[in-house]
Amino acid sequence: MEKQSEYDLVIVGAGVSGAAQLYAAVKYSNIKRILLVEKESGAGLINSSATQNSQTLHEGDIETNYNLEKATAVKHKSGFTRQYLQRMKSHLLGDLYLPGPKMVLAVGEEEIDFLEERHTQFRALFPGLQKLDGSELSHIEPKLSEGRSEIEKIIALYNKDGITVNFGRLASELIADALEYSARQPERVVAVQYDTSVDEIVKTDSGWSVGLGTEVITTSYLSICAGSHSMYFAKKIGLKAVSKTSLLLVAGNFYYTPKYLNTKVYTVQNPKLPFSAVHGDPDILNPETKTRYGPTTRIVVTLERGRMKTFLEYLTTISPFFGSLGAYLRIMLDREFFFYAFKHNVLFLIPGWGNYLFVKEIRKIIPSLAYKDLERARGQGGVRPQIVRTTETNPLNLGEAKLAGEHISFNVTPSPGATTCVYNGLIDVQRITKDIGYSFDTNAVALDFGQVLDVL
Ligand SMILES: Cc1cc2nc3c(=O)[nH]c(=O)nc-3n(C[C@H](O)[C@H](O)[C@H](O)COP(=O)(O)OP(=O)(O)OC[C@H]3O[C@@H](n4cnc5c(N)ncnc54)[C@H](O)[C@@H]3O)c2cc1C
Repeated sequence: MEKQSEYDLVIVGAGVSGAAQLYAAVKYSNIKRILLVEKESGAGLINSSATQNSQTLHEGDIETNYNLEKATAVKHKSGFTRQYLQRMKSHLLGDLYLPGPKMVLAVGEEEIDFLEERHTQFRALFPGLQKLDGSELSHIEPKLSEGRSEIEKIIALYNKDGITVNFGRLASELIADALEYSARQPERVVAVQYDTSVDEIVKTDSGWSVGLGTEVITTSYLSICAGSHSMYFAKKIGLKAVSKTSLLLVAGNFYYTPKYLNTKVYTVQNPKLPFSAVHGDPDILNPETKTRYGPTTRIVVTLERGRMKTFLEYLTTISPFFGSLGAYLRIMLDREFFFYAFKHNVLFLIPGWGNYLFVKEIRKIIPSLAYKDLERARGQGGVRPQIVRTTETNPLNLGEAKLAGEHISFNVTPSPGATTCVYNGLIDVQRITKDIGYSFDTNAVALDFGQVLDVL
């Protein structure tokens, strides 16, 4: 194929967000010339990688920080990912996704009252959600009861139909499908370029020019799905929508024990710290031998975990500098946030102590857990970029972060995470086609997914 330098759509980043956009653009739009650019050697190797996140398909039933309205929306959106996995990728069960039960556990009277009320409220939306008491739980997951004091009561909301997902593999599958589909359409140009970093973007009269090292390409629409780097590019071009916005980078560590749980076990979340509730999960990379716990909450100053060279790019994202520092200070002044952050970012780092303190957190799930059972999952745990509104009294925004300018958009943080990637890709491409004069086939989406996509 002749090398192309003009495109209708260029997508930056081959995590689940960029991959799902490519898939949606190729299968359901008539956009003619599309390029996906990724700086790594393959798809889904940064935050979407199975080692970097908790692999949960969030559907709203066990996430206790969602109210009914949010859970309804999340169920609808995650349905597209579920359908993609179960309808189109059933042959990859085990490698790409792992069906299995999930639950949220309540420990003590206050949490039990909360979950009981929640069950009454949520069971119409999730008919498969069962309320189980301590004795029922001891048959399903004996480790939850072993060693627990008689006076500490537990219940759980349990759903046998959970899914664990390898989101990195999902990114690869979406891209492979897009390329296979486009290979049957010789009139279209669809290309994926790995090992290619976007270093410069500049507005032109008709769209954007994109610097890829020594090469420059042009595009009518530029979609940046580069995680934290999306904010870096938004700042670099001076996007007005981010002039009072900065990033708080929340990373997390994971830990392993031998396989003690068959169920994905979440705990009741503190609404102020939704990333704080510990959970125990099957690991799709070690399903027979290990249970994985976490993530802890580490505040970091690199856009990508462990990559010091992204520190300077992080500095670009915290402008206005003093406004950002003020906002960080206001976040830390919240007592609950401060003590939680201190524990996870200072005490957890003390050699020996860190594991000891984390064992204490996991004992909420497995009371009999021994210190020696726990090992750090080295090199695991990605970064979740959280938006900070520098001028607001409560600066931390824990929702989705999607920004747009003229013929350009930036996906910083999908919410709730990788789960909604397929839905987001379909919606984003629907919007892009409107912007650059192409069409989008919502009927074909409904046929493939058995679910109607919201029409913009
Ligand atoms: C600890 C943790 C636990 C999580 N648990 C869950 C969970 O259980 N369920 C869930 O749904 N979500 C979860 N998430 C969130 C989820 O992992 C992310 O929301 C999702 O992976 C983001 O995908 P993405 O494609 O937007 O970003 P990424 O996967 O980070 O992809 C961005 C891509 O852009 C590329 N890129 C960056 N800069 C450039 C450039 N200049 N040029 C070219 N390419 C570039 C990167 O190399 C990367 O491949 C978790 C996240 C963390 C950190």
